[in-house]
Amino acid sequence: MSNYIVLVKQVPDVSQITDNAFNPETGTLIRTRLASVINELDTQALAFAHYMKKLSCDRQGQMIALTMGPPMAEEVLRYSLSRCVDKAVLLTDRALGGADTVATANPLAFAVRKIVKELFKNDNDYYVVSGMQSVDGDTAQVPPQMAEELGLPCIAYVTGAEFKNGRFEFTRIISGGSQVVAAKKLPAVITVAKHEFPLYATFSKTRWANQTPVITWGSEDIKATYFGVKGSRTAVIRVFPPGKSTRKCRQFKDAGMLTKVLVDSFKGGNGETERAGSVRTRNYVLPHNRESLLDRRFEGTQKEQEDYEILSEKLRELGIKDAHQIDDAVRQKILQKAGEHFHDKAMEDMINGLKLTEPVFKGEVWVVAEHSEGVIHPATFELVGKAHELAKSLETKVGVCLAGHRIEPMAKELIAAGADNIYLVEDEFLEVFDPAAYRKAVADAIRTYWPQIVLFAATPQGRMLAPMVSYRLECGLTADCTGLDIRDSSRKGEIALLLQTRPALGGNVMATIRTKNSMSQMATARPGVMKRMPPNPSRKGKIIRHKVELSEDDVSLEIIGTELGAGSVNFGAEVIVSGGKGMQNRDNYVRLLTSLCDALKNRLKVPVEHGASRAAVEQGFAERIRQVGQTGTSVGSKLYIALGISGAIQHMIGVANTEMIVAVNSDPNAPIFRQCDYYIVGTVEETIPQLVQALEKV
Ligand SMILES: Cc1cc2nc3c(=O)[nH]c(=O)nc-3n(C[C@H](O)[C@H](O)[C@H](O)COP(=O)(O)OP(=O)(O)OC[C@H]3O[C@@H](n4cnc5c(N)ncnc54)[C@H](O)[C@@H]3O)c2cc1C
Repeated sequence: MSNYIVLVKQVPDVSQITDNAFNPETGTLIRTRLASVINELDTQALAFAHYMKKLSCDRQGQMIALTMGPPMAEEVLRYSLSRCVDKAVLLTDRALGGADTVATANPLAFAVRKIVKELFKNDNDYYVVSGMQSVDGDTAQVPPQMAEELGLPCIAYVTGAEFKNGRFEFTRIISGGSQVVAAKKLPAVITVAKHEFPLYATFSKTRWANQTPVITWGSEDIKATYFGVKGSRTAVIRVFPPGKSTRKCRQFKDAGMLTKVLVDSFKGGNGETERAGSVRTRNYVLPHNRESLLDRRFEGTQKEQEDYEILSEKLRELGIKDAHQIDDAVRQKILQKAGEHFHDKAMEDMINGLKLTEPVFKGEVWVVAEHSEGVIHPATFELVGKAHELAKSLETKVGVCLAGHRIEPMAKELIAAGADNIYLVEDEFLEVFDPAAYRKAVADAIRTYWPQIVLFAATPQGRMLAPMVSYRLECGLTADCTGLDIRDSSRKGEIALLLQTRPALGGNVMATIRTKNSMSQMATARPGVMKRMPPNPSRKGKIIRHKVELSEDDVSLEIIGTELGAGSVNFGAEVIVSGGKGMQNRDNYVRLLTSLCDALKNRLKVPVEHGASRAAVEQGFAERIRQVGQTGTSVGSKLYIALGISGAIQHMIGVANTEMIVAVNSDPNAPIFRQCDYYIVGTVEETIPQLVQALEKV
């Protein structure tokens, strides 16, 4: 008999954003103007836990919903009670507010311990089930960090379950395919990526849910170790509106017109499109290498930058070249000249900042490599390229932590891609990726060498491993970054911080985040955004072997089967035509895509390849190897045609580097229309033959 604790969260309804929800001056969202709803993936987690209970024919197991939030978060517990749970626990306390993922995972883990002790009477046969991520934070970090605190196996990105021989086997999403796994021991944490069988409330259940008391605990009841702002290891320093998409988003009513523009611009070249969300800035220079120590061009916020510009100008006017020359008389003069811009204390902090030259963090810039079957994930090369740029600014080296078994041959490729030192952690228990074994190995290497920055790819593997490693090492972590820059906060006495910029609230705002109270600054970075360096086989690097004691006990999951794409596909082609679930069936996918690909090949005289969305692959329309996206392949073709594809972020990540995107979709509100260059609203069945005909005529 298993018990279940389902994590649910109240989030702003980002699907119903009205114009007045934006601050007209800053362009950022005013959260209080958004309705609050239960996080969509948590409703799926509730239904999934209910499904697990039914699968195992387990009538005795208890189901508890747990949430942490303000008192009004009780609403999501009532929702959960009306669907399937027996009891609901609300963790609410002002002291818990303002938390990052570490300071959220920690109190939740302590609440889980209390539930197990008091409600399950110390019965350790239980699952913690949650949505893969919440739509406001989009980090996917809390469940693995909770698992780390509780010392439990974590199975993330689950899409299905079967109950066999007295245990659950879970299907989960991995890079390049899917995998069936079972936890080697219970309890375990499961995160649900998709479960499309919603639960509905009956009238009587709703009445019962509204009358049932919710168990309410405060900070004192659970005695967490890290909570609230103080327990957090990251801090948001800036929130700003996302840059406008540089895609043209132009609708065509007529296939002939679209074909003409497409053929013309394809011939002429469309120029490189700046990728959404990427932040392009000047490369950072350490203070001791700047022309003058008064030069503070690299402050983290615009206000700090502007204040320093004013201060430096006044100092120059007074003939001061060095902050040590500033005495009381100079201070008075500055205040007279610039008093309206900053007061005494601020000026004093800024003057102290001018004397600083040493970075706060020391050590190399590291990338944790991801690989499978002897092949390094492309995102690792992109991160090595970024690490190279950061390390150059910080005057340090690029290290790559390469963990696995029989992996040394990959070191050469990583060195050619920009790595200086390869930290090789080889062990037979690292033959395949196991989150618990890998987090032990990687964390041990980091703890030995303490790099100042550690980057992971924001793939399912990286977004699973990084939260566990960072939690174990008591370091902050920022998820899914699209911008990484070094900047100072001289006024606060900090030089050369890693500023981590990422989309939040479903991409409606961008947030810049910094690490605090940590030995190392850690981030996962979105694949397809950072640039890889052209490989240089003559580059020299060092291999440093790092031994970690691992045993069978460190392996948390039994891998029952892995399905990866087989065969070959030419995603280097200049044109890629992809079909999604909107192709309706395999016959349409093959017939319609082939006709369009042939017409494009004939007209443009360039290689053309078929691609697919993950949903199309799961429907059996196309082979796994053809999947484009976060867990498929990232492509950088000249032209990408998306047919019957909605434009989910995980798909669009894979096409961010393409020059031109054309979409056909029958839904006039399809999200892909806001992320493409040209589009036609229409069914694929009607539009593709029209495009083919037009291509033959142009
Ligand atoms: C961890 C994780 C990793 C993932 N990795 C990937 C990935 O690598 N790649 C990927 O693609 N997805 C990935 N996904 C899945 C992703 O979230 C979406 O579910 C998926 O991209 C949807 O595929 P789709 O657009 O084909 O299907 P849907 O979202 O179902 O969209 C189908 C579209 O077809 C349109 N349509 C329907 N009928 C017609 C018609 N007759 N003519 C024209 N249009 C029609 C509809 O309007 C709709 O917009 C991942 C998800 C997770 C959780």
